[in-house]
Amino acid sequence: MKILIVNAGSSSLKYQLVDMQDESVLAKGLVERIGIEGSKLTQKYPGREDKYVIEEYMPTHVEACSNMLKALTDQEFGVVEHMDEIGAVGHCVLHGGEKFTESVVIDEAVMDAIRENIPLGPLHNPANLMGIEACQKVMPGTPMVAVFDTAFHQTMPPKAYLYGVPYKYYENLHVRRYGFHGTSHRYVSKRAAEFLGKKAEDLRIITCHLGNGSSMCAVDHGKCVDTSMGITPLEGVVMGTRSGSMDPAVLQFIMNNAKDANGNPEIKDIDDMLNVLNKKSGLLGISGISSDMRDIDGAADSGNERAKIARDMLIYGIRKYIGSYAAAMGGVDAIVFTAGIGENGIELREAVMQGFEYMGAKLDPEKNKVKGEERDVSAADSKVKVLVIPTNEEIVIARDTLELVTK
Ligand code: ADP
Repeated sequence: MKILIVNAGSSSLKYQLVDMQDESVLAKGLVERIGIEGSKLTQKYPGREDKYVIEEYMPTHVEACSNMLKALTDQEFGVVEHMDEIGAVGHCVLHGGEKFTESVVIDEAVMDAIRENIPLGPLHNPANLMGIEACQKVMPGTPMVAVFDTAFHQTMPPKAYLYGVPYKYYENLHVRRYGFHGTSHRYVSKRAAEFLGKKAEDLRIITCHLGNGSSMCAVDHGKCVDTSMGITPLEGVVMGTRSGSMDPAVLQFIMNNAKDANGNPEIKDIDDMLNVLNKKSGLLGISGISSDMRDIDGAADSGNERAKIARDMLIYGIRKYIGSYAAAMGGVDAIVFTAGIGENGIELREAVMQGFEYMGAKLDPEKNKVKGEERDVSAADSKVKVLVIPTNEEIVIARDTLELVTK
């Protein structure tokens, strides 16, 4: 069966068509600027240089999905002859709240539940819904599956997911830690166990997903028991533009005291404050240079002090989570690095793993010279395995979709 994977954003739509016979990717595409002048679809093919581009105004996700099908079935640049060859669609959905502990076939009740979770994922869930509705419109009768970014973390116990605020806010408003990047943490923890020739159920694994957004996860015998992101992806280590964890009183202090050149409050309201924490903080906010780790590395290496501090803050944050998750699980068998920074950041991995010999983890600097490749980078005498595992959220979505529609 061929499965289409769709990740819809508010003005974009990413897709991949996977042939499940050998799990090969037939085509990958991106539709940008949906509803904005200059809409564009670009379709690429793994291992090929050529690409197929459609440039025409796409007012909504429906036109984006129509063009996606047009590109996939195009006589010259398509990869299937007819739309019917696409057996099912797997959709990425950000927030499943407490309702979804695993992937599900989409029906009206599931759509309603995704809608109910909009207050928890106000930017992503509406976009995900638009993507699902558009696909349903242009591919009527094709089964669709929702794969939630929060689902893997639903096994956390209350002591890990509750915040220390009055319990009524959890009962009435569902205020709690949900965690994100669940599909990635699930994939790399399972893959790590396979790589080691063991079962995830027999291991304690700490997974470090370090990209533009970064999150850490403690996977105890196959189950997530803690993760660093919270009710939103803002919590945890410092990220590209997100602050990570802090004393919440910082918000009030900045709002009360930060003034612009005319002496007026710099931050208008709490939404404005959250915008600063989400978009102007983290590596970008500290360094004043960039949110991209490669730029931070470049600047830090040429002596920029703030870039050095930004990098050190990320490294320090990751180390603190590794220490605390090892303590939470009563030990650790494997530490896994994934996503852009985790897979490619040779120096960062080395810095993160410095001095962990006391808990049996030691990196081999030579083996660690690897980018974007599955590898055991631990020293021969390291009791804890340190692994680089490139993430593959798409394959999880494709596999879940196949399993659910062929049940
Ligand atoms: P996203 O969270 O958007 O999926 P990625 O997983 O692609 O992001 O990660 C993006 C981050 O990975 C950026 O900070 C980028 O600088 C970093 N990155 C990519 N390649 C390298 C590299 N060779 N060395 C260090 N960091 C890298």
